[in-house]
Amino acid sequence: MVQRNPNMAKLRAGYLFPEIGRRRRAVVEQNPNAKIISLGIGDTTEPLAPNITSGLVKACQGMGSLEGYSGYGAEQGMADLREKIAEVLYGGIVKPEEVYVSDGAKCDTGRLQVLFGKEATVAVQDPSYPVYVDGSVILGQTGGYNEEAGQFDGIEYMRCDASNDFFPDLANLKRTDLIYFCSPNNPTGAVSTKEQLKELVEFAKKNQSILIFDAAYSAYIEDPDLPRSIFEIEGAREVALEINSFSKMAGFTGVRLGWTVVPQELQFEDGTPVSKDWNRIVTTLFNGASNIVQKGGLACLSEEGYREVQEMIQYYKTNAGIIKKALTEIGLEVYGGENSPYCWARMKGKGSWEAFEEILTQAFVVTTPGAGFGPGGEGFVRFSSFGHRADVEEAVERLRKHLG
Ligand code: PLP
Repeated sequence: MVQRNPNMAKLRAGYLFPEIGRRRRAVVEQNPNAKIISLGIGDTTEPLAPNITSGLVKACQGMGSLEGYSGYGAEQGMADLREKIAEVLYGGIVKPEEVYVSDGAKCDTGRLQVLFGKEATVAVQDPSYPVYVDGSVILGQTGGYNEEAGQFDGIEYMRCDASNDFFPDLANLKRTDLIYFCSPNNPTGAVSTKEQLKELVEFAKKNQSILIFDAAYSAYIEDPDLPRSIFEIEGAREVALEINSFSKMAGFTGVRLGWTVVPQELQFEDGTPVSKDWNRIVTTLFNGASNIVQKGGLACLSEEGYREVQEMIQYYKTNAGIIKKALTEIGLEVYGGENSPYCWARMKGKGSWEAFEEILTQAFVVTTPGAGFGPGGEGFVRFSSFGHRADVEEAVERLRKHLG
């Protein structure tokens, strides 16, 4: 018999969302006529915009003709898409050859973990997107789960909450090889300022660490003073790489397209450029994003497509505003929801799962318990703005009734 990978056994009971799904099904079984509304999982709900759809359709039809057919492409992505990403989304502060197109930010996170290997030490924001921790556990970067501490041994949890303006206390942080940092943050909706990111870059430089900057929600930043990319910060090119995605920007959660920027200056201790090894990982373990989908990405970054992208983002941001207003009026302490699709609410002394269960069983609204994002999320619930407007409006009316 084959021995199970012992790291798999170290993972905590499932991933957060299967547990939410299980509880939701239980409520549906007991209340078969109830209309459940989800403000839970961060999955987009609105149809693709017309120009973007038409870009995908044309690419697909092209594949059915002799002239339009293409097979394997460059693993790093189509040259014109890499150029467009560098130009439209970064205003030229990164080079096209530093952009590696992928099938999404989650997949790139996994490949980055393979790139850095199991010996690399890791710090994560607490709370944070669960994939950074779970991926590190699977790879063997942690000893195991420490029940008492409510966290994995061997990972540095950087507490980010209202008391520190959602920015870690770097003066008391142990050095690690890698620092995962997500802004706008999932789940708190907090967006780091230029000054905060400068501090982070200086900290990474001083400690010779590498920042894995997750900018999957950068398109939601409207405030011109807030950085959309870590590369807006001086010195970041020597210490950071950035993952990003079309998922929340253009509704591509099911279409699948993302990218990672690895600057040429980023090096390992022995002087090897990180991009050299990243290129090797990408060419070995990945065969490139779908050529049809990459054309869809190009459509998103065309003049008309990019206008549609902005409209889609405004739609979800309006939802976020509706949710934030209602939660505030209910009297909850609410964060995020402005340059981000997520609202993060403290549930008046209730535990996260208790508050989740109460909202689910009384208001028939699915949310996400903050504790699922790390011990720092206990006592909070995340409300996602990804939903149809009418559902969001109905959900907030129910919340006003049951929580108000
Ligand atoms: N990073 C963060 C912070 C996310 O919240 C998500 C998805 O929810 C991802 C990455 C994954 O994005 P993708 O759909 O590109 O895999």
